[in-house]
Amino acid sequence: MTEQVNPGERLDVVAVAPHPDDLEIICGGTLAKLVKQGYRVGIIDLTTGEPTPRGPVEVRAQEAEAARVRLGVQVRLNLQLPNRELMDCPANRYVLATALRRYRPNILIGAVGRTPAASPDHNQGHLLIEASRFYSQLTKWNDRFAHTEPYRVPHLVYAPFPFDAEQRHFHSTFVIDISDTFEQKLEAVACYHSQFDGERLAKVKHFIMGYNIYTGSRCGFAYGEAFALPHPIGASDLHTLVMGGKGSPAPVQLPGQSHLPMN
Ligand SMILES: [Zn+2]
Repeated sequence: MTEQVNPGERLDVVAVAPHPDDLEIICGGTLAKLVKQGYRVGIIDLTTGEPTPRGPVEVRAQEAEAARVRLGVQVRLNLQLPNRELMDCPANRYVLATALRRYRPNILIGAVGRTPAASPDHNQGHLLIEASRFYSQLTKWNDRFAHTEPYRVPHLVYAPFPFDAEQRHFHSTFVIDISDTFEQKLEAVACYHSQFDGERLAKVKHFIMGYNIYTGSRCGFAYGEAFALPHPIGASDLHTLVMGGKGSPAPVQLPGQSHLPMN
């Protein structure tokens, strides 16, 4: 439905979620920012998101493409796995792993979490993403992956659904400052007219704004998006790691002292 796959054309980052609009809401600001920073980014939607009471499928596809353009993301691929019935199973792992073997990203961002008030596809997508990342490296099974070569995705980053049912204790979490792409994110979400008409759009914008302000403020940013890793953060430079992209979120700033990095 968007830019065609050019096999062998690598992406720096691939982000995966069950439905078009999931990634925009969870981490659209970060995806737009990665593009601004010069990285090649792809979005993989596992399903079309249809059927819903709101469709139809053609409109959903046009909305997803409009949102891709708004974020500036180079590639968007829809794997056409079954919405509402999405399961982590070997057949679906082959499909997603094949896409990973084609795009060979450095980083795989996966939407994760269990959302009892929303679609069960989210939880299954979480499992499917982790399993497919493992499957993509498997040897001697190329025929199951459209004759692509094995590829191991070096890094997996969790993008938790903000309405996750669990209080998860990840090994490490971090927040990306999206203050300069937050408006782009809201505009991308607004592309989904069929899902978010007037009142619903106002509601979802209100929620996103509150959540991204809260998340960002914990690290001293106007707006932020939260991520996690399945392992502790490794670093060779404690100073750079701790200082991050901006100053301290310390609530008290003494006169004459700046919290900004000194370099
Ligand atoms: Zn969803």
